[in-house]
Amino acid sequence: MSVLGEMFENLLSRPITILYPKEKVPIPGAFRGRVAITDEKCIGCSKCSLVCPARAITMIDGPREVEFNGKTLTRKKRPQVKLYKCIRCGLCERHCPTGAIFLKNELSSSGTDGEIVVT
Ligand code: SF4
Ligand code: SF4
Repeated sequence: MSVLGEMFENLLSRPITILYPKEKVPIPGAFRGRVAITDEKCIGCSKCSLVCPARAITMIDGPREVEFNGKTLTRKKRPQVKLYKCIRCGLCERHCPTGAIFLKNELSSSGTDGEIVVT
């Protein structure tokens, strides 16, 4: 096709770009978005913080009674994630024995504020 032909074709067609964030983009099922924690499920085992390659997870005080494998345990610690240190590798989700920490299937902002945490 000639350059002129291509130009006219593009003039008459709809834009192929999406006006994000006004328009939402389709998100694939396995998308690794913002990290999240369901505190009620967390047994405080620290596995997530041990496997995190970005050292984004710190175990902080979080005593509570938790149920795991039919037993009641006394949890001492819970994870706190530095949101913008997280590289969304998904290792914490893969190694968490209870599914308490996971990556949401949704887009999120990016930033540099090291003080923003997810608990
Ligand atoms: S997704 Fe990866 S980088 Fe982010 S908190 Fe989990 S283990 Fe750390
Ligand atoms: S979020 Fe999962 S891996 Fe991390 S401390 Fe809690 S139970 Fe353990």
